[in-house]
Amino acid sequence: MFRIESLVVGPFQSNCHIVACSDTSDAVIFDAGDEASRILAAVRRMGVAVKAVINTHAHIDHVTGLAGVVDALGVPVFMHREEAPMYEGVGQQALMFGLAPPRIVPIHRWLAEGDVINVGKLRGEVMLMPGHSPGHIIVVFKDETPPRAIVGDVLFQGSIGRTDLPGGDHEVMMKTLERFLPMPDATVVYSGHGPETTIGEEKRWNPFLAPLARRVPRSAR
Ligand SMILES: [Zn+2]
Ligand SMILES: [Zn+2]
Repeated sequence: MFRIESLVVGPFQSNCHIVACSDTSDAVIFDAGDEASRILAAVRRMGVAVKAVINTHAHIDHVTGLAGVVDALGVPVFMHREEAPMYEGVGQQALMFGLAPPRIVPIHRWLAEGDVINVGKLRGEVMLMPGHSPGHIIVVFKDETPPRAIVGDVLFQGSIGRTDLPGGDHEVMMKTLERFLPMPDATVVYSGHGPETTIGEEKRWNPFLAPLARRVPRSAR
């Protein structure tokens, strides 16, 4: 069964999601954004065995705690290759915000569209969803009831990720958002910031997603 614990970390209040299979206790960490010691404490409290850390994307608020977590757990890091320049430029990002540059650790596996991430008995599918950043991925656990999606900074409750930062592209983002429309309304969405929501709620109320959802004729839903 799907199990998740989420922590709000760092000055940007980003969500770190720890996803575990309750049958096997295997887990993955999405976005070790900051405060590695708190993330590690949550892992210990959950009693899970972390197999990897996945960067949805490489903005500073999603990778600052990465080195600390990897040092302690000795686990590999997964990310999309298109996000490598953003990751290597994390020092520049830090300067932009007047923060200390976080330490960079090697990426062990480049994720691609359609890749499957197995977490115990859970099966997550990788989707490349650029627009907020060039190599932003989401992971969808579509076999779960309800389905779950870890979406990083692509989709928020009532909003979407900004596209005015370096590497952002509004037009690309609009195309990316269309990929949420076929997902079941019950799909629970875990964002990079803010509370969880569902695809159905966002299709009804999200000012960016709702107009796209209305464009699809009812008969085609
Ligand atoms: Zn971001
Ligand atoms: Zn963020």
